[in-house]
Amino acid sequence: MSRTLVAFHAHPDDEALLTAGTLAKAAAAGHRVVLVVATDGALGLTSDDLRDGLGDRRLTELARSATAMGVARVIHLGYADSGMTGEIPADPPGGQRFGRATTEEAAQLLAAILREEHADVLMSYDAAGGYGHRDHVKVHEVGARAAELAGTPRVLEATVPRELLTRVISCVGHFYRFPADFDLGVYERAFTPRAQVTHRIDVRRQIPAKRAAMAAHASQAAADEGADRTLALFLRIPRPIYDLVFGREWFRDPAHTGPVSDDIFAGLP
Ligand SMILES: [Zn+2]
Repeated sequence: MSRTLVAFHAHPDDEALLTAGTLAKAAAAGHRVVLVVATDGALGLTSDDLRDGLGDRRLTELARSATAMGVARVIHLGYADSGMTGEIPADPPGGQRFGRATTEEAAQLLAAILREEHADVLMSYDAAGGYGHRDHVKVHEVGARAAELAGTPRVLEATVPRELLTRVISCVGHFYRFPADFDLGVYERAFTPRAQVTHRIDVRRQIPAKRAAMAAHASQAAADEGADRTLALFLRIPRPIYDLVFGREWFRDPAHTGPVSDDIFAGLP
């Protein structure tokens, strides 16, 4: 039976890092996959020469990533990036920063898409918002409310088992100097404890699609001379380690009971 999966993300490139394998796997199995981003990611880090028009550039990169994953439709919910640090900047002309939108109003927009698509599954974020970016925390809140409004049967919170993440990061730290935008401490209170993970998806066969999705976000691997970026670092990890780290994806379904599942659509009405 063909299902519809709507994946809700904060910024272009989040879909590639956390969920590309699962989205590509669902699409390859003949399910309809719809990708929604809250913001255009215009405040993401990049090199100075890419700063102008970064939002448009990142939406173009997102379209390329979507093609690599077999996504049927891409939608920008219309909000502006809230940025990571300090106060939320002033709204851009004619726009509103996602962090300043009310959860209810953003959830109404997402719920309209869930209804139109007859979504079986909404993919969202864990309550920590992954590593804690305010737009990611907001995705969790908006996603939960939108699914409630639209009556979407299943919400899967994309995450990583916290214990695995901290172990891998400290291991990688023996071989690589971490880039300037990397804060190890963040990961000790980020994402989800392993005991709360309900779905573990094997995406080893989707690694080429996942690497292509990551590589599509070229602006996010770019930095000024002397700097380095997390995405660029991930793509340089030797394949055996990359496959170990990125060959599985994890989710938490707050309503799930029983053993960890390997199929995001199993048991749906
Ligand atoms: Zn993000």
